[in-house]
Amino acid sequence: MLGLMQDRPLALPHVFHRAEQYFGHKKIVTAEASGETTTTIADWTVRVRRLATVLDTLGISADGRVGTFCWNTGRHLELYLAAPCTGRVLHTLNIRLFPEQLVYIANHAEDEVVFVDRSLIPLLAPLADKLDTVRHYVVIDDGADVAVPDGWLDYEELLAAAEPFAGQFVVEDENTAAAMCYTSGTTGNPKGVVYSHRSAVLHSLITLVADGSALSERDVVLPVVPMFHANAWGLPYGCLLAGTDIVFPGPNMTPKAIAGLLESHKVTVTGGVPTIWMGMLPLLADHDLSSVRTILCGGSAVPRSLSENYRKALGVPMLHAWGMTETSPIATISTLRTQHDSLTEDERADIRARQGQAVPLVELRVVDPETGEPQPWDDVASGEIQAAGPWIAKEYYRGEGGGAQFTEDGWLRTGDVASVDRYGFVRLVDRTKDLIKSGGEWIGSVELENEIMAHPKVAEAAVIAIPSEKWVERPLACVVVKPGETLTPEEIIEFLTPRVAKWWLPDAVEFIDEVPKTSVGKFSKKTLREKFGGYQVAGPTSHDQA
Ligand code: AMP
Repeated sequence: MLGLMQDRPLALPHVFHRAEQYFGHKKIVTAEASGETTTTIADWTVRVRRLATVLDTLGISADGRVGTFCWNTGRHLELYLAAPCTGRVLHTLNIRLFPEQLVYIANHAEDEVVFVDRSLIPLLAPLADKLDTVRHYVVIDDGADVAVPDGWLDYEELLAAAEPFAGQFVVEDENTAAAMCYTSGTTGNPKGVVYSHRSAVLHSLITLVADGSALSERDVVLPVVPMFHANAWGLPYGCLLAGTDIVFPGPNMTPKAIAGLLESHKVTVTGGVPTIWMGMLPLLADHDLSSVRTILCGGSAVPRSLSENYRKALGVPMLHAWGMTETSPIATISTLRTQHDSLTEDERADIRARQGQAVPLVELRVVDPETGEPQPWDDVASGEIQAAGPWIAKEYYRGEGGGAQFTEDGWLRTGDVASVDRYGFVRLVDRTKDLIKSGGEWIGSVELENEIMAHPKVAEAAVIAIPSEKWVERPLACVVVKPGETLTPEEIIEFLTPRVAKWWLPDAVEFIDEVPKTSVGKFSKKTLREKFGGYQVAGPTSHDQA
């Protein structure tokens, strides 16, 4: 027997029409290079309708890829809707990628047009000759004092000349592609993840659930997480569904600028990677951030100390989430549960430092990466996390990677190694490729660096494997000391001794100025491995003494 409910597509036109119908009075603020601009959602929806016409006028194919090379702005949000609502595929290009990766990605996706913020022209213009399928460049003037190449079109002129598309946007098949985003790919070529309308709508709803960021119409949301990386964690569509006010930071992503916006717009919900919140820590005392109720944080492990510092200063710890481009990205969120009610504040901080439980509709399992055997959820056994759900990728664009990242029964191999406690709270210990194998036993580099970052004088730390004749691999800690502080390797080891197994203690500590980062702000261990690849440790290691 079949259910007798209407079969209506889960598609982004609904998100647009809902915002248009109910939230016309709400605000979208963007901090442009030339100052703040404010529009109402009502005016913004008319602009989206004009943009839909512009895409037709430019001759973009029915499912053509619409590239964006933009900061977080209200105009980027116009593209977020106009492209998929007209059946095209939004392709957010990561402005921080290396030139050759950008060229590869734009050609692989066959972008037909690229919309570019004027301030970013210097990064894109030198590549234009190599972008084989791009027929138009459209410049969004953000007030930057940068020359526009001949033949590049002006966004505002195109919009002004276009009639707003009249009527309802329709996407009949919810499985139609809505957007794509390439993995940041530390090995091999980046791979394309193609989101459907259905996956985008369902994933955005997670930003509205009470156990997540619980977006409501009363919120003012500032997405720091870039719109060019993994859908800005679902916030753009989530804000429109909930009817929040939105504040976009534009090109100035410094902690000072973000703190200023949080204060002046009385932002209630924000989200970004740990680096941004670490940078803002010294500024907390200078700003009234009492409006902030939720700080979503993820993309890399959220150090316990960072979350605790925010809890102590603002009364708001980080809301820790985990995911990846392939998971849209939200897969887990670390919300405390009733079983944690009796814990001390200190123990709660340990739970918050975990990546959390799978969000509704996402399923996780932990398996031995070699045998595929499921591992018990006892917080001791560890293995690769595999994920399944309606917003988890089932393959890459054009079958790249030959299916190696997907299991025979259709789960995504995340490449992240974790233990899970009996309540289902994930604790990520490493990436499979970053694990350190010392004498046949695994050392979790992420776990070790989290412990080092708990030291009050440490700003950042990354741990990598260095070769060892006896143990095959041993840990090297690369540590960034906070400005004005001094530290010795011995102090680090002394601090770690009661915190980790003896044979986990790093054999060497190198002090560096900054941990190198990837295009999406994660620790680039590849760069560190290149730098310290030939490192030799003299004398016995802590594994010898364990
Ligand atoms: P990307 O696809 O660029 O977003 O990168 C995804 C990867 O970032 C994941 O596979 C993890 O290795 C890492 N990551 C994301 N969130 C977290 C987190 N909360 N804790 C630790 N690692 C994370």
